Amino acid sequence: MKSEAYLQCIIPSCGKKYDVKTTRTFCECGNLLDVRYKGSFRKELTSIFHDRRNPKGNIFNESGVWRFRELINFTNFDSEDYDNYSKVFVSFDGAEGRTRPYEMTKVAEYVGMPKENVLFQPEGLNPSGSFKDNGISTGLTHAKMLGIREAICASTGNTSASLAMYAANEGVKASIYIPKEDIAPGKLGQAFQFNADIYQVEGNFDEALKVVLEKGREGAYVMNSVNPFRLEGQKTMIYRALEHMDWEAPDWIVFPRGNMGNCSAFGKAIIELYEYGWIKKKPRFVSVDAKGSNTFYTLYNGLFQGEKLRWNNGNVNDELILEYYSYLDKMDIKPKTGATAIQIGRPVNIKKGLRSLEYTNGISVQVDEKEMEDGVAIVGSNGFDCEQASATCVAAIRNLVKEEVIKKDDKVIGILTGRLKDPQMIVKYHTDSSNRFANPPKVLYHRS
Ligand SMILES: *Cc1c(COP(=O)(O)O)cnc(C)c1O
Ligand SMILES: [Zn+2]
Repeated sequence: MKSEAYLQCIIPSCGKKYDVKTTRTFCECGNLLDVRYKGSFRKELTSIFHDRRNPKGNIFNESGVWRFRELINFTNFDSEDYDNYSKVFVSFDGAEGRTRPYEMTKVAEYVGMPKENVLFQPEGLNPSGSFKDNGISTGLTHAKMLGIREAICASTGNTSASLAMYAANEGVKASIYIPKEDIAPGKLGQAFQFNADIYQVEGNFDEALKVVLEKGREGAYVMNSVNPFRLEGQKTMIYRALEHMDWEAPDWIVFPRGNMGNCSAFGKAIIELYEYGWIKKKPRFVSVDAKGSNTFYTLYNGLFQGEKLRWNNGNVNDELILEYYSYLDKMDIKPKTGATAIQIGRPVNIKKGLRSLEYTNGISVQVDEKEMEDGVAIVGSNGFDCEQASATCVAAIRNLVKEEVIKKDDKVIGILTGRLKDPQMIVKYHTDSSNRFANPPKVLYHRS
């Protein structure tokens, strides 16, 4: 199946279109772009997706991203023409996206739901240890289409780890811009290990991203989630979750809020599938902020100047956002949380995120540091591994069940975005017996 793709400004009143063969990530009007496809897709594809789970030697069937290639094919290569698409699709030999939702008995008990109703999808099982691989595979595919030899990104750690890993495998240069502090050692280690060019920015992630977007305007290939081709790959997390549920949408999808790439991609996946008629119900999104980094929670719930920030069919109140950011500057308020992956004060995809929440009747909540740490521990007690940012889902679901916003017989999917790359955090947690799930070691004294 051949598809025709183009780029389009997300703001309906602008709607300017661009060819996919461009490095631009912003419309002339300053807003973000979507990848759009001509025509619709038939639900019969779901059985083709399923059949590919027997990959028959094709790594692009093994890949949990490219297995859904018809729905993300911006390359204009025929999705059945292996000889051609295999020259351009980027994959870590089929290893990315091999995830699906799992039952986690102890986590379910902790959040107060029957185990079959609350499932968690551990994206940390991706080759670089986070969901980012879903998007880097498609983002780098687009870069390759354009003949790009160097990609850049700002990162709280996982984007750079993933980009560095894929770039090493593809023989492309990765230049990464990371905050000097507040990066998990395991993520920093990956950037070194995979031989990226590393730039340490004095300041936080928001400042690093500013540097990168400036370079993007000068023509560099930007691999942050402003890259609409990257977000196409991140839609496949939703496809895998839905496939696991026989394409019956759950009631809720819960995920952490960082730069809002996932919120944007997940919303786009749901909007498209709903428009194609593949799903009859739109799951409600829960976007979770860390309390120490709660820009979106604050704006969405009207806690700044009393106005609730909304998509409003593309007429977003830009002034409200800018006033909030200048208030943060004036008061010298910086985002601060142990969940460094979501320590982001100025989510660049905020408008796409608002669109997703509006379409899914979504909500925004926040959780505190202890709740995230307990979440990491309880997920661990089920034999799974996640970092604090990911554990926001567990904490949020627990709170929403208590508040009876989520009902016990609702179906809920939580996206565990990445594995723990700061093992000191969990060692510290377990050796402090005041922690709820602490499991301190028993010390033996050996006498000879
Ligand atoms: C990047 C990242 C996030 C934030 O995701 P966004 O799409 O930017 O909102 C959350 N958790 C982990 C583990 C991450 O690596
Ligand atoms: Zn525009």
